[in-house]
Order: sequence, then structure tokens, then C-alpha cells
Amino acid sequence: MNEVEKIREELKKSGAERIVAFVKKENEPREVLAVLSQKDIDKVTFSPLSVNNPAKLLMQLNGKVAVVAKGCDAMAIRQLIKEGKLKRENLFIVGISCRGVIDYRKLSKIEKLSEIREVRLEGEEVVLKMRNGEKRIPFAEVIEENCLYCEHPTPVIYDVLIGEAREGRKDFSDLEKLEKMSREERWEYWISQFERCIRCHACRSVCPLCYCEECIVDPSNLAISPMSTAEDKASYPRLLGKTVNAKDNAIYHIIRVLHHAGRCSGCGECERACPMELPLRKLERKLEKVVKEVFGYDLNEDIPFFSKLDMLGD
Ligand code: SF4
Ligand code: SF4
Ligand code: SF4
Repeated sequence: MNEVEKIREELKKSGAERIVAFVKKENEPREVLAVLSQKDIDKVTFSPLSVNNPAKLLMQLNGKVAVVAKGCDAMAIRQLIKEGKLKRENLFIVGISCRGVIDYRKLSKIEKLSEIREVRLEGEEVVLKMRNGEKRIPFAEVIEENCLYCEHPTPVIYDVLIGEAREGRKDFSDLEKLEKMSREERWEYWISQFERCIRCHACRSVCPLCYCEECIVDPSNLAISPMSTAEDKASYPRLLGKTVNAKDNAIYHIIRVLHHAGRCSGCGECERACPMELPLRKLERKLEKVVKEVFGYDLNEDIPFFSKLDMLGD
């Protein structure tokens, strides 16, 4: 039985009424997430282009749900369970021991996406099934950079595991270059990144951990309706201006990353969604390192980081 057949088999055995899994996107080689029923199981597929994190979608569903989860997806699911946003007993998790996913942008620079029918991994190569025949490229050329530093390729939580458990990386060597810079150089670097941000909020929309109904850094998201009085409107906090500029963008990003302290699952959805290709994972990774070194908190702990901070104050 191949990987996809095993996934389908386990989803079937779960008996769950609803299934969150990947299905092929029409006229493109990649997969997208879908909410399915048992009768749709034959549509389920999986490949190194099954990149998205299903955790956010799970928060919208009630009852028993079976879900296909890579290592970073499982990290997000466990975090949402810790935060009371998901119930473990409602989930059947088909965990995938993950070798990494393909960076769609890198792939599109190598091949015309509309020519690719499907992709699969064979050893260290990606096999592209093309309109006319097959092509092979080294996986190392197209793997997402985020996956090179993945600590949890094997899901930390699952009901059944597909594939052999694999070790992740436990260092922060990806941050060395930034850490060697002086404080001024680092500030320059980040400001030059933030000034490219168009504040489209895509990074926030896709993040499984950004689930607040009202977001403090997005005035358009605050609960102002046509019925709101001038007093209501005036009483809402406005931390940053409506115009997009490097300094206000910096506030947006600093607040967003701080809200993820001890929480980021490392899925990379934020970077993937960013139309301006900002290196958002580097910010999150740095914060993860600080949380580990300064507060001694490990993401694998059963209690949320903020609860632990309360205890440290005792
Ligand atoms: S971050 Fe880890 S688990 Fe997630 S896709 Fe990359 S290798 Fe897989
Ligand atoms: S997705 Fe990119 S451009 Fe949009 S708000 Fe986030 S960082 Fe800025
Ligand atoms: S901040 Fe980015 S990497 Fe972290 S959980 Fe959110 S989308 Fe995933």
C-alpha cells in the first residue's frame, strides 16, 4: 500500500463524519485542504505539495473530525488544544512523518506549473509528472527553507502514524547571520523588510494562532458597525496608523510576534502567504529561542507559556 492508500484507509477506519484532508487542485500540481465526508475518501491525496496547515479549519468544525497532519500541523493542533480551542477527544489525527514540503515559488522558477500534473518524492529526488513524460529534480533545490530547520517532522500528537518516525533539528543555526549583526545593523535589516510590507494581513489570516475575533493591530477588524456611536469608535484602541509605512508596520509585526511567544507551531503559513516574501519565520524563530533561553520554556510543555509566566511570578 502506498502513502496515499494508507491515509485513505486510516481515514475510513476512523469512522469520522467529517474529514479534513488534501485534495488535488484543478489544473495545478498542488493540493488544497477540503472538508470531506466518508463518501469522498477516494478524492483524498497527499504529496510534497500538500503544504497548508489544517489547524485553523478545525476550529470551525464541531463533532468528530479526522484530520491529516504533518509535524508542524500537529504542533499547531496541540497548541490549540492547550489553549482550549480544540478538544482532543473530537479529533482523529492521521499523522504524517514529514520529509518536508516543496516551495511553490522555487518550483515555479524551474518549471511552468501548468505543465506539471503531479509530484512525488523518490529518495532525494522530486519526480514531476509532466504533460509529456517525467522530469526529476533534486529535492534540495525546491524544499521550503523552513523545513530545513524543522524540529518536529514527526507529529507530537497522533492516533495513527504514516511512515517511520524521523528526528528533527534542534539548533538555531539559521539565526546566526542575524545574531552576528550589531544592534543598529539588525534594526536596519528589519526596517528594510518592514517597509516592504503592504499590511495586507494575509500572514495573520492564515496563522492558526491568530484567532482573536478583534485584532489589536488591525483597526478594520475591530467591532465597529454602522450602529456604533462616535463614543464607541473613539474608545477603540488605535496602536498604529492606517497608512502603510515602515514604523507602523514594525509595530504590527512586533505586536504580532510577541503574541506568538511560546506558541508558534513553525508551519510557515505566514511566509507562504506573504505576497512581499518577508522573512517572517526568522522573527518567530528568534522569539522561540528567547523564550527557551530566557524563560526556560519548551513548546512541548503541557501548559501554555503565558500560564507558566504567571507561575514564575509567584
Ligand atoms: S516544517 Fe517540518 S513538519 Fe512542517 S512541512 Fe516542513 S518538514 Fe514537514
Ligand atoms: S502577509 Fe506580508 S505584506 Fe501582508 S501584512 Fe503580512 S508581512 Fe505584510
Ligand atoms: S506565525 Fe507563521 S509559522 Fe507560526 S504558527 Fe503562525 S503561520 Fe505558522
